[in-house]
This record gives sequence, structure tokens and C-alpha cells, in this order.
Amino acid sequence: MRVAQVIINRPAKQLHKPLSYLMPEKFGNVLPGTRVLIPLGNSREEGILIGYEELIEPPEFKLRNIVQVLDNEPWFTPEMMDTARRLNEYYLFSYGDALRLFTVNKTLKSYEAPKEEWLVVTPAFSVEQFSERKKKQRELAKYLLEVGGASKALLLAKGFSRMVIKQVSEAKGITNESRFKATKTTFDELFTEEVNIPLTDAQQAVYKPIQEAMNSHQHKTFLLHGVTGSGKTQLYLKATARCISQDKTAIILVPEIILTDQIVRRFVETFGDEVVVFHSKLTVQQRNNNWERLRRKDSHIIIGARSAVFAPAEDIGLIVVDEEHDTSYKQEDMVRYHARNVALWRGEAHGCPVILGSATPAVTSYYKAKQGEYHLLELPHRIFEQPMPKVTIVDMKEEILHGNYSVFSDAMSSLIQKTLNEHNQMIILLNRRGYNTFVMCRDCGETIMCPHCDVAMVYHQAGEELRCHYCEHHEPIPTVCPKCHSKRIKFFGSGTQKVEEELRQHFKSARIARLDQDVTKNKQLAEDILHDFGAHKYDILLGTQMVSKGHDFKDVTAVGILTADSVLNIPVYTASERTFDLLTQTSGRAGRGDKTGSVVIQTYNPLNYAIIKSKAHDYVGFYNEEIQNRKALGYPPFREMIHMVVRHQNMDTLETIANRIVSDLETHKGDSDILINGPYEASIKKVRDMYRLAIMIRGTDLSNLKEYIYNSWIFTQEGLLIDVDPV
Ligand code: ADP
Ligand code: ZN
Ligand code: ZN
Repeated sequence: MRVAQVIINRPAKQLHKPLSYLMPEKFGNVLPGTRVLIPLGNSREEGILIGYEELIEPPEFKLRNIVQVLDNEPWFTPEMMDTARRLNEYYLFSYGDALRLFTVNKTLKSYEAPKEEWLVVTPAFSVEQFSERKKKQRELAKYLLEVGGASKALLLAKGFSRMVIKQVSEAKGITNESRFKATKTTFDELFTEEVNIPLTDAQQAVYKPIQEAMNSHQHKTFLLHGVTGSGKTQLYLKATARCISQDKTAIILVPEIILTDQIVRRFVETFGDEVVVFHSKLTVQQRNNNWERLRRKDSHIIIGARSAVFAPAEDIGLIVVDEEHDTSYKQEDMVRYHARNVALWRGEAHGCPVILGSATPAVTSYYKAKQGEYHLLELPHRIFEQPMPKVTIVDMKEEILHGNYSVFSDAMSSLIQKTLNEHNQMIILLNRRGYNTFVMCRDCGETIMCPHCDVAMVYHQAGEELRCHYCEHHEPIPTVCPKCHSKRIKFFGSGTQKVEEELRQHFKSARIARLDQDVTKNKQLAEDILHDFGAHKYDILLGTQMVSKGHDFKDVTAVGILTADSVLNIPVYTASERTFDLLTQTSGRAGRGDKTGSVVIQTYNPLNYAIIKSKAHDYVGFYNEEIQNRKALGYPPFREMIHMVVRHQNMDTLETIANRIVSDLETHKGDSDILINGPYEASIKKVRDMYRLAIMIRGTDLSNLKEYIYNSWIFTQEGLLIDVDPV
């Protein structure tokens, strides 16, 4: 007998396994991926049909009927269901949670197709209005008279420049119209300006294998290692043009969208309405409309941050993961996954190339490329051959010996002054909010902590209050120490706000903008700041991590990094890698135009290899040291890792649970090389009144242990967080 397997369509930790039902014949052949209504206890629930199973004998319990079928066709394609299965098995979250990551097409109220800008000829139009000297304009005018009208996209494809099209569009007798795309464009014609730039020899060499993979519809993973400005984005555009000429969908992943608006802009300028930009600020209607555009192939390109990897594309021809090393590809919420992995799985399923691009590839990616698992492509030089910026490392211990206790070393102050004198711009990085101001009592050493979390409260100038960065708790700034009642209670550390104040005091004439998480909560404000900085309305841009990536500012000649150490000191095995990335990427902001850049890096660890190698712009040198360390210490890529956090309000109960998990895992790891550490105090002992204990698992192959976990009581344990491949 045939039994339908259904999972509940809502997060349900205890009910995460498929339930068996009978599919009444009247519903016909219902395909997996379809939503159904099932009876559960005394109520009805929405479920997702995930497949059928043939039973030789009827089960001991009575099977119930599926009540209703909710969709005419499946929500999920077979590929989405397979990829969800891989997510489920690899990352240890339920199959239902994995499926729900896919942003499927919900029923749309009304579909709005993308529009094209048209130039339409009226009787008042003439070729003669353009002087003989304006050859291109006349040529375009003649063509328009012949056909009566054409879309801008087509004109670009025909080789008319944007400038010429603009001039003709403003001429007498032309109306500009916005028309729905009537038919599918023939993409072979649609190689617009940017795509038509001839590639350099170096780019050509790198493009060839990508093109071959695309032509033969082959899955291959390319690791494109190229310094910033080496022409990687140009290659993405070219490959995307090829992809859509095959009437296939291209998925372009970028780190946090606000930081990378330049690459988004280049895609939109090149491909117009072929591009759907995916970000969290879209309304539900806009989002569904975008999915529908992709599904109908009215648009062939989706560009967005990590969750865009789940785009409902049925025929993927190319996936690009730009800045593939970026930690924002790792989702750190309840369902933890890495978008790069999902990209590789989908690329494999669709038989298409995946390009991982970076100036500082993840150590694990570079290792795989060296092992031949990925195809390594290198672009070691900038297109316009600008020299790499000159980097100076300052030992902050020396500064203190010289009596300079300011956050700015002498070298930093001179660089700021020099930049201001020469009317250039500077970016100053103060990484991590960890360097924010906290409040401490001078007499008893008491730090004001959040009452619900084991973290120090942070001073915020706006609102003059203390806030917890892990929960919503906030409170007024105390005037006396809550412990010893001393009045000598003071601010410590240097938050971005405080550094901004110091800057203003030292450099009175400087126009300073600040970009940190407080500011970027307001996306518009952040965009305005970046825009104004780009227009040179500010001299200095001060900010956290987010100033380190993506932007191309032609007048930025100097970069200052106030504390290279704060990332180095995070207790994770990737601390050196992250430090190297941050320093290299931030330094790369200096001298993007025709001016050479200067960088000052302040540190208490001037001999650290991550810092020294980034000064020399030596990725491979860094990699060689780092990979030795990883090997010696048994970290990825040599071992897989799972990090677990167990949470409970009661410390005793928590210890009991955590110990049971560890002893069960020890029993089931078999005679493998698996190491289980813990339970030990998590790096933050308490969050939102829940105590936390951590367990770390490492081994060359964790798949059997994962399977055990998934099928045991451990998986359904309330309050357990599982992080596979922590970064
Ligand atoms: P990356 O993505 O590696 O930082 P880009 O693709 O942005 O590099 O290229 C850097 C600059 O060089 C850009 O301004 C781009 O327009 C330009 N560029 C890239 N390829 C070419 C080319 N083949 N010919 C001329 N200019 C190019
Ligand atoms: Zn005190
Ligand atoms: Zn808190």
C-alpha cells in the first residue's frame, strides 16, 4: 500500500519527522512539494507532502486520510526538495525548516511584469534636427524612423552608447514610454556596453574555462582569487550575459547589500529589468512579484545577500558568490547554514558553474582549490596597474612608552593631517562594537552588566543611556556605583562616538561622518552618508567593519585602522583569518582612483603573522602559515566541527542535560577520531536569563554522529542550539 509522507508546515521541534497518511484517490496523482491539509489529533494542520512510501504490510495503527490538497501544482521543485534534504542532513535542522528557507511563489494578487524604456517616434521627428557632425545620433535617428520605436536595451545592444541614446531621447518628436516587455528578448543581442568591454589577456585566460563550463552545462566550482580592482566583477557581468543568453537564471550573491550597492548598480545598469534585487526591505507583494518574475523568466538575474541563494529558480545557469570569504554568508540565527555550501549544492543539482570570488579567499576554500576540488583562477594584478597601498604598522606599546596615551598614534595623526591638507579623504576603521564604551566604578571595579545577560552594558550617546547588545534591556546612566555607592563611576573603552569626539577636537576643520550599527539601523541614513562621502562632502568616514568593504571612493587616499587586535582576540579558530581579511580589505579602500594610497595599522601585536602578511598584501604567505596551524591544531579544513550550546533557566538542570549529551555522544562516536570537549561555560554565560553551556565536537568525518544526533533525543531537546561548521 502507498503511504503519503507529510511534514508539518511550521516550526515544530517535536514533530519534525514525516507523518504517514493516506492520499484519497479523488485527489489524483498529487506530486511531492504540494501543500496539503492533514488531521492531527483533534485539529487540522497544514503540511507539505514530501513523498510516498510503499508498505508491504499495513501499519499497526490506523492511517488517516489527507483532508484536502491546497495547491494545483507543487510549491517546491524536486531540486529544492533535494537541496533541503542536504541542508537537513548536513546542518542538523529539521527538513521542514530547511524547506521553509526556500522562498517559494505564493499566490500573487496581481502580477506586474517588468517594463522597458522605449523611444517612440512621432510625426514631428526628423533626422535633420541633428547636425551632420553628429554621426551616431543621425544613425540612431534613421534607425528609429525605420522601425518606429525601440527599447533602450535593444539600442544599447545595437551598440549605441548611453550618451547618444539620451540625446536622441530628448530630441524633438520622440516620446519616452514605459512598456511592458511584450516578448522575450533575444539575449544573444543583449550584450550591453559594460559587457562589451574587451577583456584583458589575464581576464580572458580566467574567463575561458568558465565559458567552457557554461557551454557544456557542466557543474564546476571556480575559486576566482583576484585582488580588488583586478576585474572580477567584469567577469561576473560577462558570465551572466552568457547565462541569460541561454535563457537560464543567474544567482549573484553579495555580502550585506547596503555595503555593496556598487556591484548591484553595475548589474542593474548593465541588465536593467533582467535584474531582480532582493533585500529585506521589500514588501511581501514586491517580493512575491519578484519571485514570479523569476519563475516566468521575465527576469533572469537575482542579486542579493545570503538568503537569495534560495531563489525559486527552476533553471539555474550560473551562481556567483562574491567576496566568498565574507562571514555574512553564514546565517547565525536559529537555522544556521552557510550560503556558499547551498550555492555549491544547487550548482551541482543544476549542472552549472559556481564562481567563488575573493581577494582573500576563505582558508578552507583555498585549500580545496589547492587539492583540486575547486578550479583555481588567479587575477594577481589590478586592471589599471595602480600600486597597492603603502602600509605602516604602529606598535601601540611603543606609543605609550613615548607618553602618547591617545587613541591616535603619532603616525596616525600625521596621516590624518596630511590627508586633510591635501584635500583627500580618509576612512578610519574602529572594528567591533566590543570596543564600545562601558561603565566601570573606579573604586570597586564594578562594571555595569545587563541584569538578563552576562555582558557589559554599552553607553549610547543618543538617548544618554546604557543598552544591552544581546537583549532589549536599557537603563539610564547611573550616577553612583550600584555596589559601593561611589561617585567615581566612569566610561571606559573607545566607542565610535567617543573616537568621533576626539577626532573633532584634534582636527577642528575636518568634516566627519560616522557609520556604525546605530546609524545603519536606518538604511536610508546609511545610504545618504555613503553617497555624501562619495561626493566628497565629508573628509573622514569613521566606522566599524562596514566601512571595510565594497566601496570605491576615488578621493580616498588614506586608511587608518585603530585597533587591529580586537578581531585577533575573539576566541574562535578563525581569528587570524578574519584579522587578515579585515586588514587587507580595509587597506584596499586606499588609493582606488589614480592616487596612491597610504595605510596606518595600530596594534599591540606587531609581530603577528596575520598583520605582517596583510602589510605585504601577501595572501598566499598568510595562507601557508595559517594552514600549518590549522593542521597542527586539528581545525577545518582538516577536521569538521560542530558547536553546541545548551540553554536553560536552571543551572543544575542545565548541567545534567549537557553532561548527558556528552556521555551519549561519547558512547556513539564509536572508534572514530572524534573529540568531544565540554560541557564548558559558553563565551557568554547567560543571555536573556538563560544560562549557557557549550560542547565542541571535532573529527575528520562527523556524518555518522550527525545521523545519530538527528535520530536521538538530543535533537528534540528544548534550548539546544546546533552550529555545524562554526566560523
Ligand atoms: P574587482 O571586482 O576585482 O574589484 P572590477 O571588475 O570592478 O574589479 O574592475 C576594476 C575596474 O576596472 C572597474 O572600474 C572596471 O570597470 C574596470 N575594468 C574591468 N575590466 C576591464 C577591462 N577589460 N577593460 C577596461 N576596464 C576594465
Ligand atoms: Zn563601586
Ligand atoms: Zn541583555
